[in-house]
Amino acid sequence: MFFSNCSLRCVFCQNAEISTGGLGQTITVERLAELFLELQQQGAHNINLVTPTHYQPQIIVALDLARAAGLQLPIIYNTSGYETVETIQLLTGYVDIYLTDFKYASRELAARYSKAPDYPQIAEAALQAMFEQVGEYSVDEGGMLRRGIIVRHLMMPDQRTDSQAVLDKLCARYGNSICYSLMNQYTPMPDVSQFPELCDTVDEREYSELIDYALNLGVTNSFMQEGDTVGESYIPPFDTLSNSAL
Ligand code: SF4
Repeated sequence: MFFSNCSLRCVFCQNAEISTGGLGQTITVERLAELFLELQQQGAHNINLVTPTHYQPQIIVALDLARAAGLQLPIIYNTSGYETVETIQLLTGYVDIYLTDFKYASRELAARYSKAPDYPQIAEAALQAMFEQVGEYSVDEGGMLRRGIIVRHLMMPDQRTDSQAVLDKLCARYGNSICYSLMNQYTPMPDVSQFPELCDTVDEREYSELIDYALNLGVTNSFMQEGDTVGESYIPPFDTLSNSAL
């Protein structure tokens, strides 16, 4: 479930219609609770809240309403990682799984692409708060993730060193207590034309070397991407639900 807007506004965003364009429709917290329950009735394995932070108070009310009406699915908080510790602590008891980015180790890259030079330290503190809250990565007998953290890292063109620094930092602290999702799907969007270095895709060999680097660090809990991931197949068409569906 995608929420309109995003607090980070990266220049390379592949979901710019939503993150900066504000695409979406206004609904009440009661309707949001109903949508959670409808997803459960349709057989969803979880409720995946994407860029939810700026609606956190309303989401908490909706989750209370939905749980009182029978919602039992795990709740995934799908975030850029640019979160305050206080925000994460307020989610105690509401979130089972954090699917969080760790975009940059470098303040310079964070400043250049997200106008957030403090991203590395903010994301690091937020991740620790998430870990203290939900603990180690765990799956049920069917192999479904029930609790824990998946850290997503999108490799950027020619930024292998920064990706390695992200892995160094995370592996040293969490090892395989968390799961790593290493992505090579970076796709240049029209808005990056002012950033010549971003007008390229990730080199296949660089990505492969990053995977080797992760394996050498001892990573065993991980998702990696294979084949051609660049292009529109990873950029969903955001046609909002019709008013009647909402
Ligand atoms: S954090 Fe993700 S959704 Fe938000 S602007 Fe950056 S890339 Fe887009």
